[in-house]
Amino acid sequence: MDGLADLHLHSTFSDGTCTPEEVVALAAEAGLAAAVLTDHDTMEGTPRFLAAARAAGIRSLSGMEISADVPRRTVHLLAYGCDPAEPRLAAAMRRVRDGRAERNERILGKLARLGCPITAEEVRAEAGGGVVGRPHIAAALVRRGFAADGADAFRRFLSRGAAAYAERFRLAPEEALELVAGAGGIVSLAHPSSTGYNPAELRRFVERLAAHGLAGIECLYTGHLPNQVAEYVGLAREFGLLVTGGTDFHGGNKPGIRIGVAYGRLHVPVSAFDALEARCAAVRPNAGG
Ligand code: AMP
Ligand code: ZN
Ligand code: FE
Ligand code: FE
Repeated sequence: MDGLADLHLHSTFSDGTCTPEEVVALAAEAGLAAAVLTDHDTMEGTPRFLAAARAAGIRSLSGMEISADVPRRTVHLLAYGCDPAEPRLAAAMRRVRDGRAERNERILGKLARLGCPITAEEVRAEAGGGVVGRPHIAAALVRRGFAADGADAFRRFLSRGAAAYAERFRLAPEEALELVAGAGGIVSLAHPSSTGYNPAELRRFVERLAAHGLAGIECLYTGHLPNQVAEYVGLAREFGLLVTGGTDFHGGNKPGIRIGVAYGRLHVPVSAFDALEARCAAVRPNAGG
C-alpha cells in the first residue's frame, strides 16, 4: 500500500467529538499520509489541524464542509484549499452560522411545545464551543431521557420532515462554488449518495455544478457500495473531475467509523490528495511560486 488519505474529517469545531489535535493523533496512529479537516460551515479548527498535521508529518490542506441549498435534498460541498481569512467567504460563512443559531432556536421552540423542554445552554454544552448542529440537540435529548439514542432523536424529532425539524439558511450551490473559488479553493461534491438522486438526476446535477467550477466528486466514502463507486467514478471521468474520498469521521458521534478505513474496507489512496493539492495550486496563482 502506497499510503492512504482521509479527506473528510470532523472535530469539536463542529459535530465531531475529537479536538483537531486528537484527530491528527488518530490519523498518525492509522498511518495516514494525508488528512484534511472538513468541519461543517467553519474553518476555525483549520490552523490547529494544519499545525498538528505538520508536526506529525501528515500532509494536509484547509478544508470545510458546506451544506448547499437544494430544496428537499441533502447536498454537501467539500471546500479544499481555501484561505480561511478571505473576507467574502468568511462573511458568507458567518451568515450561515447565524442562520444555524436562528434555526436552533426554532427547533428548541418546537421541542418545548412537544413536551421536551431542553435549553440552549444544554445544547451549547454538548457542542463544547463549536458550531451547534442537530447532533448536539440530539445528544441533549438523549441526556435528558427524551430519546433513547441519537438515531431515535433524529427519527422522532430532528430528521427532515420530523416533528421538530426546521430549515436553515444555506448558500445556493453556485454561490458556494463561486465563493470558494474566490478564496483560492476548489469543491468536491460530498457523499453523492445522500442527495437521493437517481443516476440520471445525479448526472444532470453534476453537469450543472461542473458548469460552475465543481472540481471533484467524493466517490470513495463510508458505506458506498461498489456499484455506487463505479457510478460516481464514471461521472467524474465524464466531466473531468477529481475522485476524492474520506470517512466522515465524527468520533463518538458516528460510532464505528474509524479514521482512514471507516468500517474497515475504505481505502483512499494518497494520490487523491496529490491531485487535490495540485488542483488547488493551479487555481491559486500565488501558490507554489
Ligand atoms: P445539521 O448540520 O445541524 O443540519 O446536522 C447535520 C448532521 O446531523 C449530519 O452531519 C449528520 O451527522 C447528522 N444527521 C443527519 N441526519 C441524521 C440521522 N437521521 N441520524 C443521525 N444523525 C444524523
Ligand atoms: Zn457532521
Ligand atoms: Fe456531509
Ligand atoms: Fe461530514
